[in-house]
Amino acid sequence: MSVFSHASFDNHEQVVFCHDPKTNIRAIIAVHDTTLGPAVGGCRMWQYDSDEAALNDVLRLSRGMTYKNALAGLQMGGGKSVILADPARTDREAVFSAFGRFVHQLSGKYYSAEDVGVSTSDIMIAHRQTPYMAGLEGKSGDPSPFTALGTYLGIKAAVKHQLDKDSLAGLRISVQGVGHVGYYLCRHLYEAGAELVVTDINQAALQRVSHEFGARVVAPDEIYQQQTDIYAPCALGATLNDDTLPQLKARIVAGCANNQLAEKRHGQALKQMGILYAPDYVINAGGIINVSFDNHYDRQQSTAKVERIYQTLMRIFAEAEKGDKTTAEIADSMARDIIAQAQQSEKK
Ligand code: NAD
Repeated sequence: MSVFSHASFDNHEQVVFCHDPKTNIRAIIAVHDTTLGPAVGGCRMWQYDSDEAALNDVLRLSRGMTYKNALAGLQMGGGKSVILADPARTDREAVFSAFGRFVHQLSGKYYSAEDVGVSTSDIMIAHRQTPYMAGLEGKSGDPSPFTALGTYLGIKAAVKHQLDKDSLAGLRISVQGVGHVGYYLCRHLYEAGAELVVTDINQAALQRVSHEFGARVVAPDEIYQQQTDIYAPCALGATLNDDTLPQLKARIVAGCANNQLAEKRHGQALKQMGILYAPDYVINAGGIINVSFDNHYDRQQSTAKVERIYQTLMRIFAEAEKGDKTTAEIADSMARDIIAQAQQSEKK
């Protein structure tokens, strides 16, 4: 398995393969770019089909963090980690103690937080081994409600641009994945008067949103073909691909999942289909924005910064339209400009 010639390798600064013989815990930490500051990005715990799938995921996710942190105006670089294990594992103490030791070996070049399969209590276990953890209890805490708020505002921006509406009342929205973020997002959407269609592979999570928000439940493979205005991917990545795009009826794709486009060309395909895509790392930056306030936590300031996601997306949508580019291309080039400017001023 080569890293340097890997299709998802993007001049990453450091990729570390970790193994704890006592627990047999395996993890990969990828530091993509530290131009803007130490790399910060969550830890995902997932039963990958192969080591190759885990490497691909961590390389793509860490690059996304560099761009996300840059566009959110944070003085933080991009990194991510994956633990190659079943998220249902119950020996959390052993797993996250080992993970904390792995992160500590990077001496502050990478700070971790929660992501899929990892909760704030897991991060607190790792924190006992290292100071390089973020999103801590008693500080910024669980980032998910802030990710959900940013995603909700991003959906509103997309609706304003694409449908020229200020309200979500009466709009139909399909949500794929009603976990940490998806649940809070559904609450915002329900309170805004939207009609929800949801799916998940976790029955308890589905029952909760169905009961609390009157959401209609469909099977996982039925979510794409729903006759909705907006499709909100809030589970795992790469759900915008050759199989799913022909099924989409929505006019907007806007959700919190990372790496939604299987490949860059799927962004172009969405544009050709007349579907507005809210770039994932822009719309889902609310959580990392909140985490960035960990050392001097101020909920009001954090919320105000999360609310800027609306304007950032409006700018991206307008520039994409003006330049006949995809929204993903515009977001990437804006993020690269920010990093290039920082590199220039470092040289001075
Ligand atoms: P989570 O694990 O709490 O929720 C994910 C949900 O998706 C789970 O309920 C899971 O059962 C469901 N799911 C998995 N596979 C599915 C499938 N094939 N079909 C339908 N449902 C499926 O994770 P989360 O923290 O809510 O994160 C969701 C997404 O948002 C992830 O892509 C994550 O990287 C991204 N994200 C999360 C945050 C955050 O603050 N937690 C921040 C930025 C981005």
